[in-house]
Amino acid sequence: MELKALHLYAAVLVLLLCSSVNFIQSPTDVLGPVALLEPTPSSAIDFGAVVSDAPFAVMRPESPGDIALLLGALSSVGPSPRATVAARGAGHSLHGQAQARGGIVVETRALPRDVRVVATTMPAYADVGAGALWVEVLEECLKAGLAPPSWTDYLYLTIGGTLSNAGISGQTFKHGPQISNVLQLEVVTGKGEVVTCSPTKNPELFYAVLGGLGQFGIITKARIPLQLAPPKVRWVRVFYDSFETFTGDQELLVSMPEQVDYVEGFMLLNEQSLQSSSISFPAQINFAPDFGSNGSRKKKVYYCVEFAVHDFQLNGSSTADHVVEQVSGKLSYLKPHRYSVEVSYLDFLNRVRMEEESLRSRGLWDVPHPWLNMFVPKHGATQFKDLLMDTVMADDFEGPVLVYPLLTDKWDGNTSAVVPATADGVMYIFGVLRSTDPARCGRECVEMIMEQHRRVADEACRPSGGGGIGAKQYLARQPSPAHWRRDHFGATGWGRFAARKARFDPRHVLGPGQGIFPTTT
Ligand code: FAD
Repeated sequence: MELKALHLYAAVLVLLLCSSVNFIQSPTDVLGPVALLEPTPSSAIDFGAVVSDAPFAVMRPESPGDIALLLGALSSVGPSPRATVAARGAGHSLHGQAQARGGIVVETRALPRDVRVVATTMPAYADVGAGALWVEVLEECLKAGLAPPSWTDYLYLTIGGTLSNAGISGQTFKHGPQISNVLQLEVVTGKGEVVTCSPTKNPELFYAVLGGLGQFGIITKARIPLQLAPPKVRWVRVFYDSFETFTGDQELLVSMPEQVDYVEGFMLLNEQSLQSSSISFPAQINFAPDFGSNGSRKKKVYYCVEFAVHDFQLNGSSTADHVVEQVSGKLSYLKPHRYSVEVSYLDFLNRVRMEEESLRSRGLWDVPHPWLNMFVPKHGATQFKDLLMDTVMADDFEGPVLVYPLLTDKWDGNTSAVVPATADGVMYIFGVLRSTDPARCGRECVEMIMEQHRRVADEACRPSGGGGIGAKQYLARQPSPAHWRRDHFGATGWGRFAARKARFDPRHVLGPGQGIFPTTT
């Protein structure tokens, strides 16, 4: 171990000296037997595929100790660090957030990924490696009949990656985001200290890293609470032609957490969006609305609410069916367009995998994804929908547009995640999830879409008092540190975020791809 430490320390020193004068040919030439490797193509790419910054080297840590050595060395050498470090989980960032130009990418998938389920405590919990995918955690927990309560729609994301943002899905209204569902973390801070933290033990670090955008430390383990997993789920879709009725029913559903376990929804802009939204939903849908002609100025838009009820009944008549009947009776959807299916819990949670396979088969997975995700206070939801319709979705648009409500009191204000201020505790997530076909939309076209998103976000993020909506972006890289300070965090939030940075990563080694703090590389 000591020898390994020496090797790594020497390697980092050489890296620091050489990277600035640029004579190093390859990390492995100079950096010895462990730790730092040649960059791979994947270390300079992510799901968004709009930013590509090559690192100088890649590290595949075998343990938190390896990361501690690296960060300890980088944060203690010289007047300021010359190499930055980004943790990379599954690389499903959208704007290069897990990249480190000229620095080091730490691939957390290399860390031990065991999932240890402890079912004898209240609550039961799982200790998981931060590089594990949520689908791996789910499969392991289901063997004990248990599962985490809070999810993302897509499960091929790492624990560390989603906990660094928030982690939201249709269960968030009931259980809060994934960052509200963590009992304990193991973190290597930017100073290279390995620290176990929880709400009662080193709480400042615990709350800093949750939603912390990879700025304060690299999460190496997490303890996630578990609940009983239902064997099956009753999954329902209902359709609307009015935004107000659609959101009204969603808000009714999220006010019934005792009966309802999941609430989402999406917009239907054309035949294509109706078809692609049906890929993962195994029921024959006979909803064939008239979207109006493409030429006409006012295209008709429809909406779909989806909700789910857990079904614990193994045989015989299901109480979930009864709940679905009861709840549906209170909704104002376009009759008779209610469609309902029973699926296993695993298939339900893993539903986006089918959409991934479909996009892959059409060559639309490994393409640029200019996405826009916004948290919008309830009072601005209609205004924001209209803004999207007049701009981003005015012309041909392909991809899902998710819209569903979240309750802000389920978000712990101590974490680093930022959500808008709301008068009534309700905000909407709008997820504009576009895949661009390179045959029809080249680099310039993608840039144009991103510029349009920036303008929409600028307008929506203006404070409510100043004629804006007071929305906040989710999963975005802001254009400049000033935008982070002013538009994202605001004065109070920024003060706390910057103080946390000064305490846990004072040399600004971590998370250069977010562009929040100036670095010296
Ligand atoms: P990466 O892209 O590898 O990293 C993301 C950020 O976290 C980077 O800043 C990185 O440095 C940092 N980071 C990664 N690991 C660690 C660690 N161990 N410690 C500290 N920092 C770390 N989000 C939702 O909330 N809900 C959804 O339903 C949802 N669906 C998605 C579907 C798809 C197809 C995609 C591409 C993304 C989706 N996301 C969703 C967004 C996703 O949660 C984030 O992009 C998340 O960061 C991806 O995890 P990752 O492991 O790929 O992270």
